[in-house]
Amino acid sequence: MSEPKKQHHAFEAEVDQLLHLVAHSLYSHKEIFLRELISNAADALDRLRFEALSDDGLYEGDSELGIRIEVDEQDRTLTISDNGIGMSRSEVTSNIGTIARSGTRAFLKSLGEEKQGEVSQIGQFGVGFYSAFIVADRVTLVTRRAGGKQGTCWESDGRGGYDLSRVNSTSRGTSVTLHLKEDESEFLEDYRLREIIKRYSDHTPFPIRLRSHDDKGRPTDDWDTVNQAKALWARPKKELNDEDYQEFYPHVAHDPNPPLAWIHHRVEGRNEYSLLLYLPSKAPFDLADPNPQHGVKLYVQRVFILDEPDKLMPRYLRFVRGIVDSNDLPLNISRELLQNNRTLDTIRSACVRRVLDLLEDLSTNQEETYGKFWAEFGHVLKEGTIEDIGNQARILKLLRFHSTQDDGDALKVTLDDYIGRMQDGQEKIYYLTIDSLAAARRSPHLEVFRQRGIEVLLMTDPVDEWVMDWVREYEGKSFQSVAKGELDLPGADAEEEPEEETDEDPLCAQIQEALGDEVEAVRRSSRLTDSPSCLVRGEHDFSPAMWELMRRQGQPLPKPKLVLEINPDHALLQRMQADEARFSEWARWLLDQAVLADGGVLEDPGGFVSRINALLAASSDPRR
Ligand code: ADP
Repeated sequence: MSEPKKQHHAFEAEVDQLLHLVAHSLYSHKEIFLRELISNAADALDRLRFEALSDDGLYEGDSELGIRIEVDEQDRTLTISDNGIGMSRSEVTSNIGTIARSGTRAFLKSLGEEKQGEVSQIGQFGVGFYSAFIVADRVTLVTRRAGGKQGTCWESDGRGGYDLSRVNSTSRGTSVTLHLKEDESEFLEDYRLREIIKRYSDHTPFPIRLRSHDDKGRPTDDWDTVNQAKALWARPKKELNDEDYQEFYPHVAHDPNPPLAWIHHRVEGRNEYSLLLYLPSKAPFDLADPNPQHGVKLYVQRVFILDEPDKLMPRYLRFVRGIVDSNDLPLNISRELLQNNRTLDTIRSACVRRVLDLLEDLSTNQEETYGKFWAEFGHVLKEGTIEDIGNQARILKLLRFHSTQDDGDALKVTLDDYIGRMQDGQEKIYYLTIDSLAAARRSPHLEVFRQRGIEVLLMTDPVDEWVMDWVREYEGKSFQSVAKGELDLPGADAEEEPEEETDEDPLCAQIQEALGDEVEAVRRSSRLTDSPSCLVRGEHDFSPAMWELMRRQGQPLPKPKLVLEINPDHALLQRMQADEARFSEWARWLLDQAVLADGGVLEDPGGFVSRINALLAASSDPRR
């Protein structure tokens, strides 16, 4: 190896910040650095195998792929090498030493928020390589891309920057040498390394070989394979236990948390494939990202083909992780061909079916686990009612809601529960969409429902409104927002019906006149028992929260046509009618407080406050 010239490069500010955190945080499992480096090596081997499908010259006569680990006690180094795809010089600069991904920023932010942070999270954010600095004070990476001539050496002490130099002759792939910190000698011990590899990387589908030493501690030419090195998903289910599945999970999911549940099947028949799919226990940081980093990986005959989240799972199941390995797809299939491939489509819908089976099973047999799932991913699964019409009925059965019949925070009520409790003659499933549960529970729209003991589902996810608008009905019962349109309650007495002709009612007409075109109409309410007023929207208008959301996103919707419903029996309305001089202030107040109770935003909050104060001052004035 000759080193013509070293070039120093500064780290991006964020890398510097990250490395500082990595080097100075306290870790409960610092040995995870090895898992991260082994994962990177395995990915590089996967990528070589994939690229070599169309150009087997890339093997350069060496197609025995594997990972080697060796220790030098004298120098206190630990080296992890692979004969995978390697990196060109420009790949080194763009992959190592810069932070190209938003994930890393998210990671830094999460560390910042939790101070020390739980650094076992590191792999999830695509900063796996930097975890080497947990145990090393200097790291040297030497790499040569398959098919390339020249190698590159990257070296850094993790402070400020790194040196790059050319390496003239080096083997294909990457080797990462960690110069261990003073107090990290345990990672020089053979038994300790074996233990870590068995624990975290037993199912890495490439052999991980550890170099043996003789009695005097000198390295020998013996390389002992430490892991099982078999693709876990290709092994029969009966040979595997829960720990096997749990151990494999972080490699495929890039998630340090344990999985919540999994399914493993080998499908035979017209299409032959294996699937191993996991439900994570925690939402990944990029769950809301339109282009998430990871998804279900596609393999063909054990060869990794791609990890593109939208290829094997629909968007509403984007949290599912795992592997599908097909025996029928051609190995050299191109990404373009995958777009419209019938075999892949069949596999994809079978996977969706299996995931829904799993969710159904959890929801009926493991309520607590399902509750955890729902808390993390329920709002995403809901999107499926819109996205996957074919499975809409199944997905609707899986939904969980709050309702006026529960008072806890857990989301428990299913649509079937609701239907089971419907009153005689009740035809509709009543619901309220509002932006918080507290606001929902106090909403004036619920008053008459409470009085009559009719259950109302309370929905607080932004997506609920889209879902309700789209789905319209379940098991022949239509959905009805309690805040929209006319109510048509079961068993309503004729005398309690709202008065249809609003303009014949002098009080309503007077309020309408005071409010001008702020409201479409004013009418006596059949909804209210305790509150003075509420706002009612048209059947297809958006709720105030959604309206506000769209406005902030720069997509203003037309103002909804609001109807102000009043409760003339309310003490304050009695008072209002006696206070001719301030009638229009009272009218304004009726409208504003109804907007607020709906979770809406007042255009002129200051005006509201001063009007209220004036009314209070007048009513408490002993001279009045
Ligand atoms: P991640 O593995 O999550 O992408 P890392 O920080 O561990 O994040 O690695 C960044 C990138 O560096 C990888 O995506 C890969 O392109 C490259 N890389 C890391 N290790 C290797 C390796 N052993 N061989 C080839 N490329 C590697």
